[in-house]
Amino acid sequence: MLTLRSPHDDGTALILRNEWVNGDYKHMVVKASHAACQAQPGQFFTLLCPAEGSMAPFFRRPMSTYGADPHRGEVEFLYKVTGKGTLALSRLQTGDSLDILGPLGKGFRLQPDWQHIVIVARGVGLATLAPLAEAAHAHRIAMTVILSARSQHALLAPSQQRFERLGARVLTALDDGTSQLDVIEQMLCDIIVQHAPDALFTCGSKRLTALLKRLAAEYGIAGQVAMEEQMVCGLGMCQCCTKVFEHDGKHISRRVCVEGPVFDLSEVVA
Ligand SMILES: Cc1cc2nc3c(=O)[nH]c(=O)nc-3n(C[C@H](O)[C@H](O)[C@H](O)COP(=O)(O)OP(=O)(O)OC[C@H]3O[C@@H](n4cnc5c(N)ncnc54)[C@H](O)[C@@H]3O)c2cc1C
Repeated sequence: MLTLRSPHDDGTALILRNEWVNGDYKHMVVKASHAACQAQPGQFFTLLCPAEGSMAPFFRRPMSTYGADPHRGEVEFLYKVTGKGTLALSRLQTGDSLDILGPLGKGFRLQPDWQHIVIVARGVGLATLAPLAEAAHAHRIAMTVILSARSQHALLAPSQQRFERLGARVLTALDDGTSQLDVIEQMLCDIIVQHAPDALFTCGSKRLTALLKRLAAEYGIAGQVAMEEQMVCGLGMCQCCTKVFEHDGKHISRRVCVEGPVFDLSEVVA
């Protein structure tokens, strides 16, 4: 028997804008269902990238929520064009439709009594962390943000400005030397001494995740990471994104798509 669904909840989104931010990244805004617009920071969607001739991505591609506004009925994505799925996405025009499934997974958690958080984003990890900064701002939590990237060009100025508009102090770390791990470690230690942050957040780099996990443990600070594992179904069934985590002194397996993608730093096996 066929199950009929409301046209407003069938996963079909309408492309409103899909514009280049720089040579690698595009910012896509879609009109989406009310349910999709409830997406919380750190949650993600799986996108059915359109097929183009022999370029037919079989699996959906996971993409973090870069923004979700239930009043305007819009969901935003910021994505790097890396392979055939994102290339097909990059060709979508205003008025085209796109099949999106979500919001999926468990997002970031903020505690109302927190005063200051530190956000460390590497590359496109900032797409995942920008909505967290907006939520923190709404809860009057101060922020220091470190943006790490290959080059000034890869830094995504509009996203940097988005953090600055929220009142965040933004520091940059580039691969010309300043993003080397020991330099970022020194930056983080200075921030911890100066602001005594309540929590550290990161996305986009396994090396930075390991560093933040170590510093969070050393200084007794909470921490969360949004993990970007390769995924297939995004719904927990295929188990392809299963990773080992530490919990209560034991190693346990968890699916990044449903038990995450946001995890406590203390649970990540570096
Ligand atoms: C929860 C989650 C959230 C994500 N959010 C974003 C986002 O906001 N913006 C964004 O640009 N990307 C994001 N990604 C990564 C994005 O899903 C991949 O870049 C995309 O699936 C690549 O598809 P493709 O067909 O263009 O490339 P493919 O042809 O499939 O692969 C091209 C290259 O991308 C790499 N790649 C493929 N899948 C992933 C993956 N899951 N993570 C990292 N690298 C991958 C491959 O190893 C390969 O080198 C996210 C991934 C996850 C799991």
